[in-house]
Amino acid sequence: MTELATPTAADSADVKRISHWIGGCSVVGVSGREGPVFDPASGRRTGVVDFASVGEVDAAVGAARSAFPGWRGTSLARRAEVFFRVRELVHERREELARILVSEHGKVFSDALGEVTRGLEVVEYCCGLPTLLKSEFSEQASTGIDVFSIRQPLGVVAGVTPFNFPVMVPMWMWAPAIACGNTFVLKPSEKDPSASVWTAELLAEAGLPEGVFNVVMGDKVAVDAVLEHPDVAAVSFVGSTPIARYVYETATARGKRCQALGGAKNHMVVLPDADVEMAADAAVSAGYGSAGERCMAVSVVVAVGEVAGPLLEAIKERIAKVKVGDGMDPASEMGPLVTREHRDKVAAYVEAAPGEGATVVVDGREGVPEEGFFLNPTLLDNLTPGMRAYSDEIFGPVLGITRVNSYDEAVRLVNENPYGNGTAIFTRDGGVARRFQFDVQAGMVGINVPIPVPVAYYSFGGWKASLFGDRHIYGPEGIDFYTRGKVVTSRWPDPTTSKIDLGFPQTR
Ligand code: NAD
Repeated sequence: MTELATPTAADSADVKRISHWIGGCSVVGVSGREGPVFDPASGRRTGVVDFASVGEVDAAVGAARSAFPGWRGTSLARRAEVFFRVRELVHERREELARILVSEHGKVFSDALGEVTRGLEVVEYCCGLPTLLKSEFSEQASTGIDVFSIRQPLGVVAGVTPFNFPVMVPMWMWAPAIACGNTFVLKPSEKDPSASVWTAELLAEAGLPEGVFNVVMGDKVAVDAVLEHPDVAAVSFVGSTPIARYVYETATARGKRCQALGGAKNHMVVLPDADVEMAADAAVSAGYGSAGERCMAVSVVVAVGEVAGPLLEAIKERIAKVKVGDGMDPASEMGPLVTREHRDKVAAYVEAAPGEGATVVVDGREGVPEEGFFLNPTLLDNLTPGMRAYSDEIFGPVLGITRVNSYDEAVRLVNENPYGNGTAIFTRDGGVARRFQFDVQAGMVGINVPIPVPVAYYSFGGWKASLFGDRHIYGPEGIDFYTRGKVVTSRWPDPTTSKIDLGFPQTR
């Protein structure tokens, strides 16, 4: 819901306005709608972000449409040069960007730097765009006839992104889209929008022509305007499952190509033969890193057989040592949640858990600072399907343990879950690990690796309710998503092979 976000006396004097970026410059919104931006560590409102109207989205799409012929016609060598420059600039200024992330998202500085680095790997992959866009050529497919394929950009494409990775997820989209010759309109999360403006300025400095990259701030109004716009050829979305489904259905009904990545409930299976210490380290890192606000966070540890007791104790021991605090404090390992509303929603799951039959082993609502949107790491035991804390994506620092008796029972749980983003198995048995990778219904699988986010030269995507669409994001499938194929059959005049033939073209 839009809040009136005009700075008040209670706000600090440095409340900043965050505006759109259209056609190569900052454009202050005129819709009269705006939203607040907070520093989650202090709870203080630090910014107001403009919310775009349909007309403002139209202006951004118009700028992208005007820039398309020029950018599409720019040589691959020149495009690659811009990407190399982008890579260097982001790398040089990664700490500045990470500080922006901390100030609006709340994650700790080291984690923010990690986000920038993983996003930058996608930019690095795109530096190889001349190779990525190479196609196939068949000489003499028929006598004197050659056949070849080319991949061409789609035109204006758009990206709608979530709050939890305000740098990396947009990079998953704009980097391959622009590398392929498209022009781009980004609608970032309204909760932490500043990184997108920073990116726009940096891309301009790197030499990207005006209008190739545009940013519209806002909420559902802006997203719907993108989905309805006849000049937008494709939409990439990353966010929660209900919105992903809506975006996919709306975009495809209007003839657009769409990939919409949704939410998750990632299970980490721990077998009795696993290294308990290593599994506990992994569960704590993947469950509480970024305060659990990762689509690849582990939220359920499936403990098989007798491993449950020692594993629970090892996790509990580690939770006691996790340092929660302001993301800019070098001692902090976990920061606050993104907003007060989200923190309260996560806390409500902990409140309800005992009534549903789960055991609260560590209650993260205790001992949190008054200021800011903090919740400490929380551990639930005896979590079972049917409980809300099991079935819902909580998206906070709440890790649940589900106890089962066998490997088969564990795999059944993962496969029966409506989500299928990531999953992991912890074991020393290579044969069982191989069976798991074969059996399990999820798009990304870790073997003794808790957060198996694919490297930039593979593609990222889940199964089931974690992805709507056919193609995963970034990597080879990203290049495929942002281009369309054309096959050319060609013959050049050669009087020795020319003749009239009214039959259907033959190759023999
Ligand atoms: P969200 O779905 O609330 O918002 C995502 C985007 O959609 C934002 O830009 C938002 O402005 C827009 N939006 C919100 N409501 C809308 C509506 N009714 N109509 C149209 N647009 C709307 O998600 P979030 O809270 O920002 O991010 C967290 C979610 O994203 C989690 O569910 C997480 O699992 C998911 N996520 C998934 C991946 C993945 O790769 N699968 C990666 C990161 C985050």
